[in-house]
Amino acid sequence: MAKPKFAIYWAGSCGGCEIAFLDIREKILDVDKAVDLVFCPCLMDTKYQDVEAMSDKEIDVCLFNGVIRNEENLHMANLLRKKSKVLVAYGSCASEGCIPGLANLTHRDEIIKYVYHDSPSVGNPRKVTPQPKTKVKAGELTIPAMFEYVRTLPQVVDVDYRMPGCPPVAEQIWAVIQAVLSGALPEKGSLVGINAKTVCDECERTKDEKRVKQFFRPHLVDPKTLDPEKCLLEQGIICNGPATQAGCGALCPAVNLGCRGCYGPAEGIQDMGGKLAGAIASIIDSDDPEEIEKIVNQVVDPVGTFYRFNLPSSLLGRRVR
Ligand code: SF4
Ligand code: SF4
Ligand code: SF4
Repeated sequence: MAKPKFAIYWAGSCGGCEIAFLDIREKILDVDKAVDLVFCPCLMDTKYQDVEAMSDKEIDVCLFNGVIRNEENLHMANLLRKKSKVLVAYGSCASEGCIPGLANLTHRDEIIKYVYHDSPSVGNPRKVTPQPKTKVKAGELTIPAMFEYVRTLPQVVDVDYRMPGCPPVAEQIWAVIQAVLSGALPEKGSLVGINAKTVCDECERTKDEKRVKQFFRPHLVDPKTLDPEKCLLEQGIICNGPATQAGCGALCPAVNLGCRGCYGPAEGIQDMGGKLAGAIASIIDSDDPEEIEKIVNQVVDPVGTFYRFNLPSSLLGRRVR
């Protein structure tokens, strides 16, 4: 019997999700036995024309990681949607926007200006700026045009499943592969590779009443001074666990780091940043407006703290100019 056809593609991303796929270690041999990998530019010399030549829905499952930052990303999202029976937004970038999505705090033109002209490490005396089309003697050269802002995969095509995590942890990747191979995938539109509830529910630290007089940036705290058993938030370390989807096994709080929210909003939360800002405001231990303001100002970079992994898919979406 023919093996199911499998594809993995990397759009606007760091590539960590594809590398995370290898974290399943020797189980990769089981995957190799069970599926026919037909497209994966990271591992194989396959071309876009190879995908274009396939029949519609010929690929059984495609894991698509990365944001939609430029025309090439959008072209591949549309193409792989057309050619795949099941399309999974694989990892935080594709699913919620992740770190590349923080570019939505600025604008394409500002990014290009900084990267090609103003950055201290750039030498560009002729002020050359890449253009989507450039005429040369041999003809016309083209590069994909960058969009004004970043979008997630579900914002441009219909996706069957979203798998959060930056990157998803190996156990969850393996669980999803097993579900794919056994045909035991849940209802279309579901999150996959997750556990129930929030990171707080997976975290082994003791939770008590949260009343906080001071927030600390993690690098300014000596981990030896932290109580290893007690909730980090109660010790003044910002932790996004209360609003973050469970799935990683609460990895970060286990090593004295606040959860940064890479598994995205827990099911049922519409706007993660709004929810977290509300949660943090509610634990401030003061009634004095001046003191409250002082404590709030200790949360440096609130957008980068509460929307770090999900700005494009949040209600804010991007900065309005
Ligand atoms: S989700 Fe994280 S690991 Fe995966 S591609 Fe995006 S930035 Fe990289
Ligand atoms: S340390 Fe973070 S994840 Fe753990 S219980 Fe406290 S807020 Fe929740
Ligand atoms: S604890 Fe939070 S930031 Fe750390 S891996 Fe889990 S979801 Fe991601």
